[in-house]
Amino acid sequence: MALEIDQLAEALAASHAAIAFTGAGISTESGIPDFRGPNGVWKKVDPAEFTIDNYINNADHRARVWSQRAASHEASHEPNDGHHAIVELEHLGIISSVVTQNIDGLHAAAGSSIVLELHGTMREVACLSCGDRLPMGDVVARVRAGDTDPHCARCGGLLKSATVSFGQALPADVIEDAFRRARECDLCLVVGSSLVVYPAAGVPIEAKRAGATVAIVNAEETDLDDLADVVVRGQAGEVLREAVQKVRAIQAV
Ligand code: NAD
Repeated sequence: MALEIDQLAEALAASHAAIAFTGAGISTESGIPDFRGPNGVWKKVDPAEFTIDNYINNADHRARVWSQRAASHEASHEPNDGHHAIVELEHLGIISSVVTQNIDGLHAAAGSSIVLELHGTMREVACLSCGDRLPMGDVVARVRAGDTDPHCARCGGLLKSATVSFGQALPADVIEDAFRRARECDLCLVVGSSLVVYPAAGVPIEAKRAGATVAIVNAEETDLDDLADVVVRGQAGEVLREAVQKVRAIQAV
């Protein structure tokens, strides 16, 4: 792995306009399970339950979702070495923005200044009818006070976390911005993604097509390892922490 981390550090040090493209794997070291890894959520629950149709049509499902959220809301997850390393790479003039599939808000919490959330955010709730948005904490307080299936106070529509469920469209402006950044970057650093969810996984493909270097840091094989110039197999926090140290050493010469 040492050789691959050297290659990663050299690619990072040579870049002045990189993007980070991250998935659930960057947050497992913060205690948030991913979907498809060995301890992933899909080993315990059926993805078919998490469709927008089921959310709209199944009041029992909504009540379950809200009750689980009310039980876990304050469990605080802190950014880990992987998120912090990406901020450091921004400060070193290498990474200019983060495109993430994650909904946990940990990149912004770590201090990354531009974060595009392709699949929305768990920190807010949106009305499925009028689009009104509220802080998650406000709606969780209503659930805890006995409102098991909260509706919009403005229009009566269904409230749902401001995340993209299966069958729901991705925010078009965010997708467009992400693909533009992919075309304009000189390096796409992929961290903690199985790269099987589209259109998100199209971001590194777009970057490669436009001439950028692609580096993948992941615990397991990904669908796009063959496309990458550098592949490092390992824990994101550990690998990125070491890579940043090596980048600093290269820059100091
Ligand atoms: P995924 O679950 O499909 O893949 C995660 C990948 O990360 C796996 O290949 C796994 O081997 C790897 N991984 C796990 N821990 C790692 C670590 N410590 N270091 C390096 N690699 C590690 O996730 P995905 O590709 O992001 O796509 C699935 C969807 O999951 C996304 O749409 C996202 O919205 C959603 N999701 C997000 C969160 C979150 O916000 N933290 C959590 C679960 C799922």
